[in-house]
Amino acid sequence: MQSEVLIVGGGVAGCAASIALARKGRIVTLIEREATPRHKVCGEFLSGEALEDLHGLGIDVSTLGAVSLGYVRLAAARRAAEAPLPFLAASLTRRALDTALIAEAIAAGVQVLRGRSVKSLTRTITGLWQATLEDGTSYVAPTAFLASGKHDLRGHGRPRDPHQWVAFKMYYRLSPTQTADLQGASELTLYSGGYGGIQPVEDGVANFCCVVKRHYFAQAGLRWEGLIARMQEDCPHLAMRLAGAEPQIDKPIAITHIPYGYLRRTTDEGLYCIGDQAAVIPSFTGDGISIALHTARCAVAAFTASESAPVFQAKLRSAMLPQMWLAEAAANGLNNPFARAILPFVLGAWPGAMRVTARLTRVTQPAVVLPQALAS
Ligand SMILES: Cc1cc2nc3c(=O)[nH]c(=O)nc-3n(C[C@H](O)[C@H](O)[C@H](O)COP(=O)(O)OP(=O)(O)OC[C@H]3O[C@@H](n4cnc5c(N)ncnc54)[C@H](O)[C@@H]3O)c2cc1C
Repeated sequence: MQSEVLIVGGGVAGCAASIALARKGRIVTLIEREATPRHKVCGEFLSGEALEDLHGLGIDVSTLGAVSLGYVRLAAARRAAEAPLPFLAASLTRRALDTALIAEAIAAGVQVLRGRSVKSLTRTITGLWQATLEDGTSYVAPTAFLASGKHDLRGHGRPRDPHQWVAFKMYYRLSPTQTADLQGASELTLYSGGYGGIQPVEDGVANFCCVVKRHYFAQAGLRWEGLIARMQEDCPHLAMRLAGAEPQIDKPIAITHIPYGYLRRTTDEGLYCIGDQAAVIPSFTGDGISIALHTARCAVAAFTASESAPVFQAKLRSAMLPQMWLAEAAANGLNNPFARAILPFVLGAWPGAMRVTARLTRVTQPAVVLPQALAS
């Protein structure tokens, strides 16, 4: 049976869209290049909006072992300040989350092809979307959703990242004292070349995820050992956290070239771009998963209301611009040496600032304009 919708990428956005479409009775084929979910570079912070969307998809993260987070702590140089999070939040490894999402998609009736990589996604002369896989087979459908996350398909690429960001994720088992001190917290640590986040995930392990500019990594000898030493020098709070910590994986997972601030301007007829293929918000906001879920839900609503993909993409862009600008401005602030030096003092005096920043950089529910047919 020919599918009505092809989805490229079975991460957060692709799975969420496939589940919603299948539940509306659509015939969906989802193509995911990994045979089984793997660790991904991600801070694994789930905001309140993400938790709500996941709940709507039938995923209860608490049954998967997610850890509740109640406050955020900011540390720069020798100072740290904390504030309660203005919303419910949790953390869960991407491997656990992606496993649950794929299982939910299969249960909803989606045809899931795993361990199959899409090489190209092109439009045929009859106006269908054709996904050609690395093994030479191809699948066609009148509509496609592009949800390949950080990976660009030829012909659908996003601009290069001028700052040449490099991101790493590492799992540690912290010492008992540090584990107790980190309980319930999402901690942001600032350095002269970027920032990092550390927070507990399931099984008593902590996720440390950082994003640094390439020149900072180069100054550290382009080696993880040099980089982690440099970040601890820059931020003694991190050195305290990691004292006596045991790495839980052989080496960190890394990615490069993250086009922060990207918001897709346009698309072709019949091609809905979602998740990181629609928008890439600075990581410190911990909002990428929420945006992936949100853009998937809105694209499904647009498609089922027969709103064309170019119209959907343009509306999505203009609705998300304010949050993206604010998040970019806040990220620039974190990278400014003067702001970095005074931030913990300011926050110590006014923790409310952290709550305000957290609220302003969220992509809130009204941010995306629903198709007319659904808005009424
Ligand atoms: C350093 C860093 C830290 C972050 N921390 C957080 C955080 O704490 N909280 C948060 O909410 N967000 C965070 N994010 C953002 C978040 O990880 C992403 O925004 C989110 O994963 C996007 O979902 P997605 O579905 O678009 O992509 P993904 O979840 O990455 O899924 C894309 C899928 O497509 C598949 N794929 C790729 N190419 C192909 C192909 N050719 N054929 C078939 N399949 C393909 C991949 O295997 C993958 O499974 C962070 C990002 C970075 C870089």
